Amino acid sequence: MKPTPLAYHDGKFVPVTEVKVGIMTHALHYGTAVFEGIRGNWNEEEGKVCIFRPREHYVRFLDGAKVLRMKLPVTADDLTRLTVELIGHSDYRGDVYIRPIAFKSSQLVANLKLHEVEDDFAIIAVPFGSYLDSAVLRCITASWRRMDETMIPPRVKLSGLYVNSILAKTDAVLAGFDEAILLNNEGFVSEGSGENLFLVKHGQLVTPPLYNGILPGITRDTVMELARKELDLSVVERPIGRAELYLADEVFLTGTAAHVTAMGELDNRKIADGGVGPVTKQIQDLYFKVIRGKAPKYRHWTVTAVPAALARA
Ligand code: PMP
Repeated sequence: MKPTPLAYHDGKFVPVTEVKVGIMTHALHYGTAVFEGIRGNWNEEEGKVCIFRPREHYVRFLDGAKVLRMKLPVTADDLTRLTVELIGHSDYRGDVYIRPIAFKSSQLVANLKLHEVEDDFAIIAVPFGSYLDSAVLRCITASWRRMDETMIPPRVKLSGLYVNSILAKTDAVLAGFDEAILLNNEGFVSEGSGENLFLVKHGQLVTPPLYNGILPGITRDTVMELARKELDLSVVERPIGRAELYLADEVFLTGTAAHVTAMGELDNRKIADGGVGPVTKQIQDLYFKVIRGKAPKYRHWTVTAVPAALARA
C-alpha cells in the first residue's frame, strides 16, 4: 500500500487532503508565501529517516517569512521538532520530501498591504525519489533573466519568485533539454531553475557569489565545506561568464531535490567529454554518504526520525 502524504497544520498531524485553503487566499493570488524543500533520506540499516540540515532550511524559511512581514509563532528548532514528529506519524520507509509553507492566508481581494493580511503555515511530507530524470544533464541558457535583489530577493524561497524559475524550466524542457541555466541582469551565470551551479577548472571549484542573484543553497554550502575539508580543493565564489561553462573541465548542479548532478552539455556544446567528471564523482560519493547519515564526522548535519510502524516494532 502506498503511504499517505501527511501534513502538520494548526496543531494537528493529518492526511494532506484534510488541509484546505479557500479560493480567495491572498497567497494564491499574489504568490505571497515562502516555502522550503528538505529531504529526509532513508537509512536502511538503521530503519531511520535522516533529515538533512533541517535547522538551516528552517532558518532560511524564517528569513523569507520576515521579508513577507509574517509573524510565525515558531522557531527553527520548533519546526525541526515538528518535522521529526510528522515523519514519526508516517509509515514511510524510503526517501521523503518535506515541504514547509508559510502563506498569507486572509481571504480578501485587492489588498496589497502585507501588514493587513494574516499568516498561516503547514509542513507537508511526501514520499519522493529522484527529481531530475538524467544522471548527466543537457542544459540550455534561458532567455528569461534571474530576478535580482531589487525585484524579488532571490536569497529566500518566496513563492512568487518561482514563476521566474518555472518559465525557464518549462521552456527548456519543451525545447528538449533537462534544465535551464539563468543569467542575471548583468549577464553573469546565476543558477539553474532549482539548483546552484559549480564549475571545475584546473582543479579549482568556482561558483557564483550570493550577489549574482542566487539562492544560498544548503547543498551548495555542504559541497563547499566537503570540497575544502575532505577533498582539499580550493573553492572560489566569483561572477562566472556563460562561455566559461562551455570551457570548464566539469560543471555540476546542486540542490536538495537535484542532489549533485553533472551537466554534460550546455547550449549544444559538450562540457569536456560530456560525462560525469572525476571531481563531480568524488563529491557525489561523499555527499550521498553524508546525507544518509553514513559519514560519522558529518552526522551532526542529520536529524533522525523513526516512522511510526518501526517505532512500534
Ligand atoms: N536555487 C534555487 C532557485 C532553488 O530552488 C534551489 C532548491 N531549493 C536551490 C538553488 C538549491 O538550494 P538547496 O541546496 O538549499 O536545496
